[in-house]
Amino acid sequence: MKLSNYFLPTLREAPADADNISVKLMFRAGMIRKLASGIYEWLPLGLRVLKKVENIVREELDKINGQEVWLPVIQPKELWMETGRWQIYGKELLRIQDRKDSEFCFAPTAEEVITNMVRRDVSSYRQLPILLYQFGEKFRDEIRPRFGVMRAREFYMKDAYSFHATEADSDVWYQKLYGAYESIFTRCGLKYKPVEADSGPIGGNQSHEFMVIADTGEAEIALCECGYAANTEKAETAEPPARTVDPSKFAPLKDVATPGMYTVEDVSRFLKLNKKQAIKTLFFLADGEPVMALVRGDHELNENKLRRVLSAAELEKAPQHIYEAVAGCPAGFAGPVDIKNKYVPGRDTKPLKTVIADYALKGVFNGFSGANKNDTHTVGINLGRDYTPDAFADIHAAAEGDLCPRCKKPFIFKRGIEVGQTFKLGTKYSKSLKCEFLDERQQSVPMVMGCYGIGVSRTVAAAIEQSNDEWGIIWPASIAPFEFSLVSIETEASGILSQSQAVYDQLHASGFSVLWDDRDERPGVKFKDADLIGLPFRIVVSAKTLKDGECEFKRRAEKTAFRWKLAELPVKLAELKTALGK
Ligand code: ATP
Ligand code: MG
Repeated sequence: MKLSNYFLPTLREAPADADNISVKLMFRAGMIRKLASGIYEWLPLGLRVLKKVENIVREELDKINGQEVWLPVIQPKELWMETGRWQIYGKELLRIQDRKDSEFCFAPTAEEVITNMVRRDVSSYRQLPILLYQFGEKFRDEIRPRFGVMRAREFYMKDAYSFHATEADSDVWYQKLYGAYESIFTRCGLKYKPVEADSGPIGGNQSHEFMVIADTGEAEIALCECGYAANTEKAETAEPPARTVDPSKFAPLKDVATPGMYTVEDVSRFLKLNKKQAIKTLFFLADGEPVMALVRGDHELNENKLRRVLSAAELEKAPQHIYEAVAGCPAGFAGPVDIKNKYVPGRDTKPLKTVIADYALKGVFNGFSGANKNDTHTVGINLGRDYTPDAFADIHAAAEGDLCPRCKKPFIFKRGIEVGQTFKLGTKYSKSLKCEFLDERQQSVPMVMGCYGIGVSRTVAAAIEQSNDEWGIIWPASIAPFEFSLVSIETEASGILSQSQAVYDQLHASGFSVLWDDRDERPGVKFKDADLIGLPFRIVVSAKTLKDGECEFKRRAEKTAFRWKLAELPVKLAELKTALGK
């Protein structure tokens, strides 16, 4: 491709609202443009990368007998009613009506549609297992679209779904998909880590997220040298070693006026006590009944863990009036001391069902918390003497200082960008959508399912986030939009264009893709653009090199440039091809 005729509008400056490195570089390198919040156009250079990633994904899924399909993005409400997700999905689901007032949504995912497709045409165990996948646009009306195509509203996803006769078969295929994902991200040239994940609203019972390691990632990962790795939303923590304190050292309980101080930060600053001394008190409604959860002041409560401990189907933060009814005070002033006697009967809620305390509170002595009185906190709180929870559990989000649940060594924390996720779904969707088959005993049973997503457009951005420098992008060769930049210097000088054409033809003959900068531009402009676009290899043809019968070869990721004899070009390119495993 000749640059003089290529739609590549590079920019000196990124738009002011570009909020991370990859989106800045994608704009500047002429890969994308913004149409509306979270909605992007992909220009030719960008699309070439997207297609490279797509092809790698397709090849690896085909290797494990995946079969590609193409599903509609406009999906009827009735199907979503069958799984109950029309109500549950909330505002992220973009709903639309046709001219007959029938309701539809724009696909955020496709469990309903694919399960409907399979229930229609698969009826016997002999037709199982099957792995179906598609590439397509998804729309999620994200509350805060950001980081360009990384958290967009419309994005490009590969979604795969597998259907099995047994749980055991689903487990075997889960491993196959996991392996395919490893191959995909390795081939894309990414540093990534599969981590245990919470299955969230998709449901199911086992899940992994594939994280591209990057300091700017939105997800936090807890890692241990023993190999344990999990999203901090999911990571379990080992109970810390017991600490005991002589009860004679317990301070007396005392109420302190703390007017208008609702947060742990405010109160600990005012009392001149460490946040780790705070007993953070939160109320939730678990399937409609109030529960109290206590975590240490420097920890965040993890709602998924709490929901599991309570075996609750639904858990929501309690509204203010529940605090008033159960603790007799506003949120921010509730605490565990004597809580069960604070209930005000006759208000529109039941009494407190249970009090769950995080393990870490076993190590808090002379703590402080709300006094169950407006504008008041209590200091000198001690477990056993002043409060006794109904149960202890791990209910906080893994944090600095926490120990690995497997080997009890301290976690290391890293940040990551979630590029893919795999789920074992069990029979969640096949039951609600009645996707059944006849087993060997001629009994009708629901299929066991798995689903597996990859954010193809997010993967492109993640690759840039992980590999760039002050000049621009540094593409891994496998997903680069072209492999070579061919830069002709002073195109009007004699022999430059004809020799460049010869190099261009040789590169193609050797099986490489090339973007040839044949423009009538200053060398500085050409080198800047080449570095910005970040193709892995660059060849420069100039009067200076030609007089020695040579060209200049440089890798984008390295500083040193080499001289290559033009006559040796075919040999050099053959060597490079071998080195790249092409
Ligand atoms: P996140 O937690 O980042 O919101 P998710 O867990 O909701 O993502 P999945 O339902 O697992 O996403 O979707 C599969 C993949 O699609 C994700 O792993 C991610 O790579 C990609 N993806 C999800 N949401 C977006 C988005 N808003 N923009 C771009 N890619 C996305
Ligand atoms: Mg996910």
